[in-house]
Amino acid sequence: MTRSLPPHIEAAFWLLLTAVGYFLLASLSLYATKGADNIAAIWPPSGYFLALLLLMPARAQITAFIGMAMASIAANMLVGGSSLLLSAGFTVANACEAVIALGVLRIGGPGDLSFMVPRAVAKFCAAAIIGSLTGGVFAALLTGSGLNFFLSWTTTVALGMLIVAPMIVIFARMIASGALQNVPMRMKLESGAIMLGVALMTGATFSQSLFPGTFVPCLAVILAAFRLGPFGAAASVLVVTIVASLMTVHGYGPIAAIDAQPKVHVYFLQFYLLALLFTALTLAALTVMHRRLAKRLEQSNRLLLQAEAAALVGHWRVDLLNWTIQWSDQAYRVHGLEPGTPVDVEYSVDRYVDEDGQEVRRIIEDAVRTGEPFQYQGRIRRPDGVIRHVKSHGSVEFSRRGRAIAIFGTVQDVTEVVENARVLEAARSAAERIANTDMLTGLPNRRHTLAELEAALIEARDGEGALAVAIFDIDHFKRVNDNYGHAAGDAVIRRVAHRARGVLRDVDLIGRVGGEEFVGILRGSSAQAAEIVADRVRKAVESEAGLANDAPRVTISVGLARFDGDSDIEELMHRADQALYRAKREGRNRVGMAA
Ligand code: GH3
Ligand code: MG
Ligand code: MG
Repeated sequence: MTRSLPPHIEAAFWLLLTAVGYFLLASLSLYATKGADNIAAIWPPSGYFLALLLLMPARAQITAFIGMAMASIAANMLVGGSSLLLSAGFTVANACEAVIALGVLRIGGPGDLSFMVPRAVAKFCAAAIIGSLTGGVFAALLTGSGLNFFLSWTTTVALGMLIVAPMIVIFARMIASGALQNVPMRMKLESGAIMLGVALMTGATFSQSLFPGTFVPCLAVILAAFRLGPFGAAASVLVVTIVASLMTVHGYGPIAAIDAQPKVHVYFLQFYLLALLFTALTLAALTVMHRRLAKRLEQSNRLLLQAEAAALVGHWRVDLLNWTIQWSDQAYRVHGLEPGTPVDVEYSVDRYVDEDGQEVRRIIEDAVRTGEPFQYQGRIRRPDGVIRHVKSHGSVEFSRRGRAIAIFGTVQDVTEVVENARVLEAARSAAERIANTDMLTGLPNRRHTLAELEAALIEARDGEGALAVAIFDIDHFKRVNDNYGHAAGDAVIRRVAHRARGVLRDVDLIGRVGGEEFVGILRGSSAQAAEIVADRVRKAVESEAGLANDAPRVTISVGLARFDGDSDIEELMHRADQALYRAKREGRNRVGMAA
């Protein structure tokens, strides 16, 4: 807040703020405890000074110490009635504790003074206690006093720092960061009401000694910490401190009613305030932390659900101990159900149709037994009867002792993928069929027939199985075309193809390799068996059975070659061709066997 000031004005500002505040607080504390043997429950100037040191820039700290020294000596002499020497001694002790507390707070970096996390609260408490212990030792040595003085000094200063400093630091930081302006009116009114409640409850409790109700203000403080966070905690404890100390010191309330020396009353009060402060600050820090965690958790959960919805991937988790299942929103959508509908493991598995459900059961059992991750694709039936293909990936979760406790998995609707793949496969196999088929006869075409022959050759070579190849050629086909026309010629080619196919065995393959030329691949055939098969084809073509009177009669000649164990496709075809040529030359309508 002094960032824009020139350095000397800035130094003067902090000096004045320190000196005036310190003097007023010290005078007030000394004055308030005058009637009570000068035994104070808390020493607020120490907290005020520490808070200012934490808020001011480091360059202003030296002048602040000068201001504090002047104010401290003045208050001790004027209001406390101490000598200059004693006042100076107290001042040095107070300055010392501030230096030490600052030093402890600086350990491990500049530190977080928001009091929003338990670590920051613990560090601050340690700084206040170590600082006040040092000051106590110093003051006891300077004044030559004993243990009682040391204890009284230490607790009083520690409480001053613990109760006053957080409240000032939090408040100043809220102003500096502009957070105070952003606090809604409703919250400001609530804060005011809660603080008033704290003051009234404390006042009511400490104005009587009939009921030992010292715990009653705790309820209001806990409410303040829970509702308003660290600021509410610090402010409410400060309110209790002011009210309870003033009333106790002047003989009112349940603590003052204890039949003991005033010193004991002060110890009781100090312990009471300390317990209250620790409870309130810790509760506030934990509450803030929990709220932050809950917010972060909610945020990441929302992101997860958004990501799942975008990626169309849901997740599920089977608790193996309770045998329950949890689905994410997207998992519900995949199953065609409204998110949140109650589901159990049996229901989930039963969504899979027929054998897919049994497979899922087996996979789950295997996963639990082996601990291995798995993936599975199956079909589910949605409540509206629609079948969808889903893909799941799963892995087993183990307890620290290695026991399988859950299965976590994802589920994705892959129906489109499966259907696209099916359409693609159908298109591919149709294209393949077209590419391999002779359109006139429906038999394998030349390319496919030769590829099959190549494969049969490799097979025969590896397995040493018998193989023969036959070339069938229609005799005097040109005449058919010439006498009956091209269309009739085509019909003859189709008829020959059909008859040949009809008498061949299932293991044999026949393809059309040229105009009116066919190749038969006769698997597992000895020379003799191949000749019988080839002749059966010849006879089938020659047969007049089922032929219309005006249908052209044709015969075929066959050239047959047996695979001899090492010939290649060209050689084999060449030998079959030679045999065909011979069959033609020898009169046609016969089977020629290659040598
Ligand atoms: P050969 O007994 O010596 O075999 O006498 P051929 O007349 O059958 O002689 P070749 O095998 O050389 O004749 C083939 C004829 O087949 C030539 C052509 O006109 C005819 N042809 C080829 N492809 C087709 C076709 O797809 N349809 C029809 N109708 N005729 C075809
Ligand atoms: Mg020919
Ligand atoms: Mg011919």
